[in-house]
Amino acid sequence: MREISPYFFQQIRQDSSKSARKIEPQEKEVLFILHDQLNLAIFPQQILARKPKLVIVESSAYANFIPHHQKKLAYILSAQRHFAIECVAAGYQVLNLFTMDSYAQALRELLTENPQLNLTYMQPSEWDTRQAMTQLKLDFAPRVSLIANTFFLADLAKFQNKIAKGYRLETFYRQMRKSTGFLMQGDQPMGGKWNYDQENRKKLPKAEKIPAIASILPDQITLEVMAEIAEFFPRNFGVLAGFSYAVTREQALGLAQQFISERLAKFGDYEDALKEGEPFLFHSVLSLYLNNGLLLPGELCEMAIAAFKEGIAPLNSVEGFIRQILGWREYMRVYYEAMMPGVRSSNHFGFKLNLPQMYWNGETKLACLQSAIASVIQHGYSHHIQRLMILSNFSNLTFSDPAQLNQWFWFAYIDAYEWVELPNVLGMAVYADGGILASKPYVSGGNYINKMSDHCGNCAYDVKQKTGEKACPFNYLYWNFVDTCRQDFAENGRVSLMANMYDQKSEAEKQEIKASAQAFIQNLARR
Ligand code: SF4
Repeated sequence: MREISPYFFQQIRQDSSKSARKIEPQEKEVLFILHDQLNLAIFPQQILARKPKLVIVESSAYANFIPHHQKKLAYILSAQRHFAIECVAAGYQVLNLFTMDSYAQALRELLTENPQLNLTYMQPSEWDTRQAMTQLKLDFAPRVSLIANTFFLADLAKFQNKIAKGYRLETFYRQMRKSTGFLMQGDQPMGGKWNYDQENRKKLPKAEKIPAIASILPDQITLEVMAEIAEFFPRNFGVLAGFSYAVTREQALGLAQQFISERLAKFGDYEDALKEGEPFLFHSVLSLYLNNGLLLPGELCEMAIAAFKEGIAPLNSVEGFIRQILGWREYMRVYYEAMMPGVRSSNHFGFKLNLPQMYWNGETKLACLQSAIASVIQHGYSHHIQRLMILSNFSNLTFSDPAQLNQWFWFAYIDAYEWVELPNVLGMAVYADGGILASKPYVSGGNYINKMSDHCGNCAYDVKQKTGEKACPFNYLYWNFVDTCRQDFAENGRVSLMANMYDQKSEAEKQEIKASAQAFIQNLARR
C-alpha cells in the first residue's frame, strides 16, 4: 500500500502513521485548529504565547457526508496542509491527525489516550461540528476550554435576538457601518448615501474587457492532495482538473490586491451582470478565502476603503463591496445563529419535487442555466446573480424541494459552509422561511435575465414568447408561480402588483400559462 501524503508529512516533520498515543507525557496543552479557522492572528495571544502544540485534523467523515465538489475538498485540504507547514515554520509543533470519523471523535481519542492533556478550541461556525465539540467539552470537563469565534465582525449578542420578520439587512448594515466606522464621516455615510445599489445594475457592454484572475499553479502539496482526492472521491461533484485557487494566506492576499487594483473599480457597475463564458466578471472571488480564515473581513474592507481614498475605485463599487462583506455576509451569520437548527427543515411553499437532474450534469437547453451550472461544475463557483436569479429562481419556479437545493449549494460551491450557504439559499433565495430574511420571493421571468445577460441570444428558447413549446420557460413558470403562491404576493405590498397583473390576463392566456407550466414541470428530468 502506498504511503499517504509522504511529501506533506516530511514537511511538517511528522511520521504519517503517528497516532494520538505519540503525544509525549510532558506535553500538557494542545490547541485545535479547525479547517475554516486557518489564521493564528485571530487566536488569543496569551494562548499562543505558551506555544501549545497545534492539532489539525483531516476528517474523512466531514469530507464524506455530502459529495463536496472535488475542487472544494482539494482547496480545504491543501489550505489546511499549507497552514500546518507555515505553523511549523513559525516554531509551533503540529500534530496532524487523520480520522475516518468526525473531528470531535479524533479529539476524543486524543484526550482519552493522553490523560495529562488539556485542549482549547475556538467555537466552530457550523452547527454539527459545534454540537459535537460541545459534547466533547462536557464529557471531558474541565480539560476542554472553549474560546469565542473571532473570525466575524458583528457582535452576536447585539444582533441575534433581532432576527424576526420585519428586521432587514439594510438596518443591520447601517448599524455595522456605524459600529465599525467603515465608509463613515462622523455619524453620516460617506458620500451622503448608505447604499448605491441603484447604480449597480448595469448590463455589461459587449466590448468591455474583463481582467483575468491570476491562476495559482498547484505546488507539490496541492498536487499530492489532488491525487488523493482523485483516488478517494472520484465520484464527487465537479471537475478536479484545472485547480488554480490560492491555498496560502500570502497567495490569497495577492489575489485580493489584484482585485482591488484591477477589478474593484467596475465591480459596482456590473455587479449584477451576466456574460456567457465569463463566470467571474468583476467579482472578487475572495469568499472562499474569507470563509476559511486565509483572509479576514475587516482587512478586506480596509483595503477597499483605501482604494476609494486613493482614487483607485469609485464609491458605488467600494460601498457595494463593503455591503457584501460587512452587511450581507455578517447578516447571514447572525441569521444562522438565531435560526438554527429549526430553519434547516423550513419549506414555506411546501415544495416536494426532487431537484432537476441538470443541477448535477448541466445538461439543459436553457442557456442561462447551462452557463451557470457549467461554471459551478468547473470552478465550484458562480456569482450571486446566477445563484439567486437563475439557479434558485428556477428551483422555486419548478416547485423543487428547497432542502435539496440547499444541500446542492452546500456541496457544489467552493465557498459554501452551512452558516453562510443555508441563510442565503433557504432564507434569501427561495423564501423557505416565509419572509424572515427576505421581504419577497426572489423570482423572475425571462425578461430580467435577458436584461442582465447575453444568454438569451444563444438559447433554444425565445425570451419574447410567453407560452408554448418555444417560449422561454422562465416566462410561463413565473406567472404560474405568482398564481400558485398568490398569498405571498397578494399580502406583500412590494409584489402584490404581480398578482393583480396575473388576474388581469385573459382566461385564454391564463390557461396557456398553466398548460405550458404543467407540461414543463411534469417533463423535467429530476434526480
Ligand atoms: Fe434563459 Fe429564457 Fe433567456 Fe433561454 S430565453 S437564456 S431560458 S431566460
